Amino acid sequence: MKVMKFGGTSVGKPERMFGVAELVTGQQEPTIVVLSALSGTTNSLVGISESLSTFKRDEAKQKIDTLESHYRQFIQELVKTPAALEKAAQVITEHFEFLNIILRISFSEALNKDILAQGELLSTKLFSVYLEEKGIDHELLPALEFMVIDDHDEPQVQAISNKLTKLLETKKDKSLFITQGYICRNSKGEVDNLKRGGSDYTASLVAAAINASVCEIWTDIDGMHNNDPRIVNKTRPIEQLSFDEAAELAYFGAKILHPASIWPAQQYKVPVKLLNTMQPTAKGTSIVQEAASVGVKAVAAKDGITAIKIKSSRMLLAYGFLRKIFEVFEKYRTPIDMVTTSEVAVSLTIDTKENLDSILKELEPFGSIEVDENQTIVSIVGNEIAQTPHVMKRLFDTITNVPVRMISYGGSPHNISLLIPAANKNETLQLLNSGLFGL
Ligand code: ADP
Ligand code: ASP
Ligand code: MG
Repeated sequence: MKVMKFGGTSVGKPERMFGVAELVTGQQEPTIVVLSALSGTTNSLVGISESLSTFKRDEAKQKIDTLESHYRQFIQELVKTPAALEKAAQVITEHFEFLNIILRISFSEALNKDILAQGELLSTKLFSVYLEEKGIDHELLPALEFMVIDDHDEPQVQAISNKLTKLLETKKDKSLFITQGYICRNSKGEVDNLKRGGSDYTASLVAAAINASVCEIWTDIDGMHNNDPRIVNKTRPIEQLSFDEAAELAYFGAKILHPASIWPAQQYKVPVKLLNTMQPTAKGTSIVQEAASVGVKAVAAKDGITAIKIKSSRMLLAYGFLRKIFEVFEKYRTPIDMVTTSEVAVSLTIDTKENLDSILKELEPFGSIEVDENQTIVSIVGNEIAQTPHVMKRLFDTITNVPVRMISYGGSPHNISLLIPAANKNETLQLLNSGLFGL
C-alpha cells in the first residue's frame, strides 16, 4: 500500500481537485489518500473560533457565512450532475449547520477543536462526491476512527495501526481510500488535531501504521528547496535528503513539512517523497535513510523564538545547576531548542511563550534573568556539516555583519544553528544563499 497526501493548495480549487483525482487513480497498489482542508479554510476556522472566544458572535456569524458562500461557489464548478450537486450541497449544509449551532454554545477548548476539524471533513467529503460522480470506486476512511493521540498529545502508532488495519480488513475489495489529514481523537475521546500543518504528520503516521511502500507528500512546489522560497530570490530543489537532514529542516522551520512529520516514516523505514501537484513529472525530493552526500544541503528559519539567559556565580564549578534549570522547563512541558553555556551563565531558547511567565518566576531564585523575545533560529543543515572543511569559515565570512546572539555547533552532526533577531532574518537567509550555495 502507498500513502499520497495533498495539501491545501492542491485541493483549493475545483480544477486542482480534478488533478488530484487523476493522480490518485490508476495507481499500481492500494492507496490511502490523505487530504488537507481547502487552502484558507483552517485560517478562517481559526478566525471563527477567535471571534467566538472573545464573545463576538456577530463577527463569527459573518465569517461563517463568508466561508459557506465560498463552498457553495466551489461545488458549482466541482460537480456537474444535479444528483452530485445535491449531495455536495448536503455536505455543506451539514457542516455549516454545525457551525451555526455552535454560535449558541459557550466556547471551550473542546469546541475549538471541533470547529477546526470542519475543514478536512468538508474537503474529503466533497472530493468523495466528485469521485463518485466520475464513477471512481473509493472508500472514505474516517480519521476520527483510527487517528489517536495520548494525554501528552503524542500519536500512538501502534493503536493507529491496530484500528486502521481492522478497518481496512472490512474493505478488502477496495483499493482507493480517502481520509482526513490533521484531525484525530485525544485520550478523552474528543476531537483534536495534530497542530497546524498536521496533515503531513497524518500521512507519515498512516504510512508507518500500514507499513506503506512510500509516503508521497504532494504540495505546490517541486520538493524541498535549499532555502525558504518565500523569502529568498533564487532557490533550487534538492533531489535527495536523509531522514535526519529532512527532520532537522522540518523542525527548524522549512514549512513544506510539519515539524514532527519525519520520525514515523524514519522509524518505520518508509521512504518519503515530496512532489509537486502543479508539475507532477518534476523529480521532487526523495527522503531516504542515507544522505546523498556530505556538506551543506539547505537553510531554514524558525520564528517566534524567545532566548532566556540565566546568570549566576553559583554555577561556577557547581554540578546539578543545569539539571535544576532544565527541570523547570520539563515541569512546564516546554522544549528547549538551543543551549549555550559559559562558566557563569546559561542561555537557552524556547519556541513557545505559553508558560513563559511561570517559567521565569521559577528561574528567578537561580540568578539574574535576561529575556529576548522576537528571535529567529537560522539552521544550516547537511549531512556531517559539522565535520565538513571550511563550512564554518564560509558561514562566518558570509554573515560578518549579522548580530548573532547564540551559536549551536556540534550538538548534531547535521546542523549548525544561529540565533539572530527576527528583524535580521530575511537579510541573513539571502546572504547565506549566496555565501553557501553561490546563488
Ligand atoms: P501544503 O498546503 O501542501 O501543506 P505548505 O504551504 O504547508 O503546503 O508547504 C509548502 C510551502 O512551503 C511552499 O509553497 C513554500 O513556500 C514553503 N516552504 C518554506 N520553506 C521551504 C523549503 N525549504 N522548500 C520548499 N518549500 C518551502
Ligand atoms: N488544514 C490544516 C492547516 O491548515 C492542516 C494542514 O493543512 O496540514 O493547518
Ligand atoms: Mg503544509
